[in-house]
Amino acid sequence: MDAQTAYLERLRPPGGKRSGKRELIVSVFLRQDGHLSADDLVDLMRQEDQKISRATVYRALQWMVEAGIARKVDFGEGRFRFEHSYRHPRHFHLICESCSRSSEFLSSDIEALLEEIAAARGFQASQSVLQIRGACEDCQAGRRTPRAVATTELLFARDALRIAIATERSGLEFYTRGAKVVQDARARKVFRRLAEEEQEHLGTLEERYTMLRAKDPQLESYPTFLFFKGAANGLFATGTNELANVVDDRRALMIGIRCERGSHKFFKRYGERFEDSEGKRIFLEFADEEREHLELLINECRALVARQSKSRRRTTSRKTRVG
Ligand SMILES: [Zn+2]
Ligand SMILES: [Zn+2]
Repeated sequence: MDAQTAYLERLRPPGGKRSGKRELIVSVFLRQDGHLSADDLVDLMRQEDQKISRATVYRALQWMVEAGIARKVDFGEGRFRFEHSYRHPRHFHLICESCSRSSEFLSSDIEALLEEIAAARGFQASQSVLQIRGACEDCQAGRRTPRAVATTELLFARDALRIAIATERSGLEFYTRGAKVVQDARARKVFRRLAEEEQEHLGTLEERYTMLRAKDPQLESYPTFLFFKGAANGLFATGTNELANVVDDRRALMIGIRCERGSHKFFKRYGERFEDSEGKRIFLEFADEEREHLELLINECRALVARQSKSRRRTTSRKTRVG
């Protein structure tokens, strides 16, 4: 059973009957990567089955919306459009008023702001719609044949990898600098070990990126899908700057803990929100790695505090004996 069939199986209510026509409509719909009107779907279906009725297609669409397979979007054209939610995270839209094409993007910074606003107003949000309307690049340049577009799934995987790689790089920088800054031998060893791990993970992620590029040589040329500005700068960047003024080993470990915790939370939170996809897996795997680092640092910090208080006690008791 392929992933798409498995996905549809999960959606079928227990004892729900199969409908040949509906399944055909659903599978055609899932193969589309744009925003279709009901009539666009009727036209597509008639290429498969000339006798299929408009009403059957409409009913199937309605069923897909209720089952969560399709999402209804309103671009202000006086009719709804539909996009599938299979391997397709929620997103915002750019809509061209001249060619009516729409493209998608996602931004953690915008989402964070929307959540902040809703919380400040005591508002329980169920949906946020953001649309940027205007003229697309192709229309502005007078290009008749629009440039190639990639599926959202591919763009999502590409951008998730880019963000994970940027984070890994900034983590590597952080631990390399940390290993030079700390005085305690054991703390230094931990920083070195984490730097090595970051280096290794970075290699794995870069390999994955190369594999993705092999699937589509034009990968680099597609527009950005994920705008995760805060994260793209590397979640460890401020931590690395703070290390410059640190003289206390415990403080250095604490900064590491704060960075790892922030990174773990960020990747977990977004990973969980996404529908099943390569991008989701990248985020969740990365969140797990960050949690392991976090636990390691917390244990080290505790051990350091215990060592320091033990040596303090020893110094005090020696002083007492001398005195
Ligand atoms: Zn356009
Ligand atoms: Zn969309």
